[in-house]
Amino acid sequence: MHGLIMDRALRIIDILRHAKRNFPKVEIISETLEGFRHRYTYADAYARTARLAGALTRLGAQPGDRIGTLAFNTYRHFELYFATAGSGTVCHTINPRLFTEQLVYIINHAEDRWLFVDVCFTGLIESIAPQLNTIEAIVFLADRQHMPTTTLPNVLCYEELLDDEADDFDWLDIDERTASGLCYTSGTTGHPKGALYSNRGIVLHSMAFGAPDCISLSMRDVIMPVVPMFHVNAWGSPFAAPMFGARLVLPGPKMLDGPTLHSLINEEGVTVSLGVPTIWMALMQYLRDNGGDLEPMDRAIIGGSACPPALMDAFRGYGVRVRHAWGMTETSPLGVLNTPRPEFTDWPVERQREMDTRTGHGVFGMEMKIVDENNNELPWDGEKFGALKVRGPWVCSSYYKGEHSSAFDEPGWFATGDVATIDSYGFVQITDRTKDLIKSGGEWISSIDLENVAVGFDGVAEAAVISIGHPKWGERPLLVVVPEPGATIDKTALLEHYHDKVAKWWIPDAVEFVDEIPHTATGKISKLRLRERFKDYRWS
Ligand code: ADP
Repeated sequence: MHGLIMDRALRIIDILRHAKRNFPKVEIISETLEGFRHRYTYADAYARTARLAGALTRLGAQPGDRIGTLAFNTYRHFELYFATAGSGTVCHTINPRLFTEQLVYIINHAEDRWLFVDVCFTGLIESIAPQLNTIEAIVFLADRQHMPTTTLPNVLCYEELLDDEADDFDWLDIDERTASGLCYTSGTTGHPKGALYSNRGIVLHSMAFGAPDCISLSMRDVIMPVVPMFHVNAWGSPFAAPMFGARLVLPGPKMLDGPTLHSLINEEGVTVSLGVPTIWMALMQYLRDNGGDLEPMDRAIIGGSACPPALMDAFRGYGVRVRHAWGMTETSPLGVLNTPRPEFTDWPVERQREMDTRTGHGVFGMEMKIVDENNNELPWDGEKFGALKVRGPWVCSSYYKGEHSSAFDEPGWFATGDVATIDSYGFVQITDRTKDLIKSGGEWISSIDLENVAVGFDGVAEAAVISIGHPKWGERPLLVVVPEPGATIDKTALLEHYHDKVAKWWIPDAVEFVDEIPHTATGKISKLRLRERFKDYRWS
């Protein structure tokens, strides 16, 4: 017997309709490429989103069509998120920092019909345009006055498209499973693969995002994603903010700019912000060099790669709570998030701090298990580590166009490629990516743990640990360090710093200093390129 409850579909456009009715005056603030700070309300955003949906229809967009974006976090990108979902089309967010071959590959693979592009990427588009097979026109996210001079054929102006349309749109009555967004993972092996999101998945993800022991978003919050809207929907914040009535602050092209982030936090009263450790380390460096505070900020959500405890301490010094989080492109991305349990309050501070560094606990909707090499489930005892598998209503069921991947070998589960422990409280600790673990004498060493210790040493700006072949042990850890400007680091002292922090046999065998560590297109350390650089390294 079915319950007698309305079968009302979960649709992304209804989030914005909700914001327009309930929070019409709440603002979205964006740093723009034009160089000024733009502000308007959810009511304005709704009207312009409707105009954009009208423009897409006039261009000839059909349900299911893919519409590419190469753009920073601004209000126009926000409008694209909702206009595509509401018109049954798919917003394919493209990372402009990818290598050009990858860009060409994913645009052709997705068969995008239009590209909506920030003016600063004109040169990039010009350079790849001859290789793009399906693009009918490039729409520049600008008004007529700011349109670029370009050799590209079929160029349109975003604001002119909107000018010709009405402030409301007859939103499509779509099935909630209809695809809404597409984001390719960087792909460490083979071609990038597409994660295809759905209306239902995104709405459920947004509800979980705002829950009290998750990001705990409310009308009293001002949220600033310093994670790009071209990478996993800025972790879902542009959808969750209008759902919960929070003000949304978008840093535009100024994601890595300490002064801008600092002024946005203080002038706009940002209470919660999200980003990868690299971004926050840059902000901390700025504060150390220039002074200032983070007065309005209550919490920083840090994920994408392991958050070093030293960074948590630095935030604590400014009165900001850090919430460590883990997720993936394939999980929309929210997977686990660390909010302390009430039982921890009576524990000694040191133990509480240690718990804060754990990756986090599950949220309802995200089921997890850890398994051994024979796919047998391992206990949640905080000791045994195994391959982490997840399932849930916002986890990919396969890659776009059904591309094969062993990650989906076990029906109904997604193998994350990460190795983790889970303790009796359900707190997950990501030990490493499977391919980054170091196998020394048959035992595993976590590169993340070793990096965290190094970053806590005075004068270390950034650190990465990679495995190097060893005649006796099979593999041993090499520590690669970028010193802070002007710092001199004593190698022996740095290695001694490990003594009371990790098992003796975990301590790296050597330290190499470099000016720069390579990063991936999403700002994480690229172990792949680092291993490539040190492939001829020999232990002395
Ligand atoms: P990519 O970096 O390949 O573009 P994702 O953004 O999907 O792809 O990265 C997901 C991966 O990032 C996870 O599988 C995990 O290895 C790593 N990661 C994310 N958050 C954390 C965290 N808090 N601690 C450690 N690793 C993390």
